[in-house]
Amino acid sequence: MSELEGIKTVGIVGAGTMGSGIAQVAARAGFRILLCDVAAEALTRAMQTIDRGLSREVSKQRLTEEEKRRVLERIRTTPEVTSLSDADFVVEAVVEDVEIKRGVFRQLDEITRPEVILATNTSSISITKLGAATRRPEKVIGMHFMNPVPIMKLVEIIRGMATSEATLATVKAMAEKLGKRPVEVGDAPGFVSNRILMPMINEAIFALYEGIGTVEAIDEVMKLGMNHPMGPLQLADFIGLDVCLAIMNVLYEGFKDPKYRPCPLLQRYVDAGWLGLKTGRGFYIYES
Ligand code: NAD
Repeated sequence: MSELEGIKTVGIVGAGTMGSGIAQVAARAGFRILLCDVAAEALTRAMQTIDRGLSREVSKQRLTEEEKRRVLERIRTTPEVTSLSDADFVVEAVVEDVEIKRGVFRQLDEITRPEVILATNTSSISITKLGAATRRPEKVIGMHFMNPVPIMKLVEIIRGMATSEATLATVKAMAEKLGKRPVEVGDAPGFVSNRILMPMINEAIFALYEGIGTVEAIDEVMKLGMNHPMGPLQLADFIGLDVCLAIMNVLYEGFKDPKYRPCPLLQRYVDAGWLGLKTGRGFYIYES
């Protein structure tokens, strides 16, 4: 039996933008889900988001009402990470903060069976560093989903120094079972996706900061001129400006290169609590 066949229950830690998307996709693929968040309101919001996502699929006739009900039934929410002791596979999707993530990995290492793979959805943090917080670094791996998870095909797969071939093979198979395309990349700050995307977003914020263009002008240039489906400032709002800032800081500190310096305007938006779509205000204002 392959390792994947033994996986029935997927634990997800962090029920924000990404954790809720991963839960939806994994429950849709037939796994039982234990979705954990320290914030009760995040769990409520996650279930509402998943419900809405599945309803969209029903309206497009990709899912029946009955199937939707069964997918929802497979998801259990919990505020206690200890409830994940029965998980056969775990994806961590808490805030992009190395110390918080290392704490979560230490806890997961304590409570889950030693053979359980602990994957992280980090956008930029060293997988090696997270693996070293556990006694099973060979079972720790990056599984970087893209936002919105139900729509985006890519999953970046990142091995840490100690990650085993067997863990890599299982995680690639898992990504495929979730309908995604796994692409393996190296364990360097930001991996490939955010090494390229985030400096572009940061540069767009510098262009705004320096008065080179308005929000709308900068986004229009990149949409109409470069054929990007979304402008960089709209995309930053969509990702979350706190997440963007955290990633820029990981690049800046990781490479020790001033070219990754986060734009002061990005810092200011985060200080103001204007985090983009999730708080109703970022570079744009969102009504609902
Ligand atoms: P988010 O702020 O929407 O959600 C994070 C959640 O983690 C919050 O609900 C918070 O309450 C919870 N949390 C914090 N500490 C916790 C703990 N100790 N235990 C349990 N829950 C805890 O963030 P997000 O955008 O979903 O990002 C999550 C991860 O995914 C980050 O590592 C981020 O870099 C990565 N990521 C984000 C995107 C994106 O576009 N937003 C894309 C790919 C990867």
